[in-house]
Amino acid sequence: PQPLMQGKRGLIMGVANDRSLAWGIAKALHDQGAEMAFTYQGEALEKRVRPLAATIGAEHVLECDVTNAASIDSVFDTLGKAWGKIDFLVHAIGFSDKNELKGRYVDTSFDNFALTMNVSCYSFTAVMQRAEKLMTDGGSALTLTYYGAERVMPHYNVMGVAKAALEASVRYLAVDLGKKGIRVNAISAGPIKTLAASGIGDFRYILKWNELNAPLRRNVSIEQVGGAGLYLLSDLGSGVTGETHHVDSGYHAVGMVATDQSAQ
Ligand code: NAD
Repeated sequence: PQPLMQGKRGLIMGVANDRSLAWGIAKALHDQGAEMAFTYQGEALEKRVRPLAATIGAEHVLECDVTNAASIDSVFDTLGKAWGKIDFLVHAIGFSDKNELKGRYVDTSFDNFALTMNVSCYSFTAVMQRAEKLMTDGGSALTLTYYGAERVMPHYNVMGVAKAALEASVRYLAVDLGKKGIRVNAISAGPIKTLAASGIGDFRYILKWNELNAPLRRNVSIEQVGGAGLYLLSDLGSGVTGETHHVDSGYHAVGMVATDQSAQ
């Protein structure tokens, strides 16, 4: 059979290193024949992203800071000129001041609220405005979210509020772009140790909690996120849009974990 992503081209935004969720997705897409361009944020990460992108033969490795509209425009201009169209896009970008990813949500400052919303939520809409014009044969877009959007998780704070808005924006984007055959979905990933996650207070405890209490009794890997990403970005997911798909060892399904006592 033909590889699932043979002949498809797309943009991966949000690789920082080989532990990034975006890299797990890129590997799965590459294994199925996709051609990808990558963006990186700033020179320090460029040193990490370029060699990774080279391992899978990516030609376009472009700088992009999503707080800068001109920088987003320039990425899509480059791809428009080089490829004419794209088939898929991965948005794996989030940021908040780590001083506010601990303690109480109620203490969030306006400046960090606005910055977190801009980078972690609005940027997906901003890139879809540009991607729409290049997805001339339809397409599939994917963003990354977390269960802290749906329920209160310790320390996730303003990031949880931004992820709730991101998940709502997935539904609105799915409706707006559906007529053009563009699908828009999110993966809600369980906790994984990455650069971004290291900014969250007590992250190791959250990882342990998930491992002990999720139905599968283990944490998820970037390869498992990659598998689900491949499904949503390829034609396997052609009937799916506006969805937030949990890749979290089932944690979202649990209301209360049975102890030995309650199980009797
Ligand atoms: P990561 O640190 O590898 O990736 C985060 C990326 O965001 C980095 O590449 C960083 O450069 C980019 N970024 C931040 N601010 C930016 C800006 N202004 N412009 C452009 N890029 C910017 O960490 P990750 O965990 O792979 O994060 C990817 C996505 O997955 C994020 O949206 C995160 O919230 C989400 N997520 C992570 C977990 C987890 O436990 N790691 C769980 C669920 C969802």
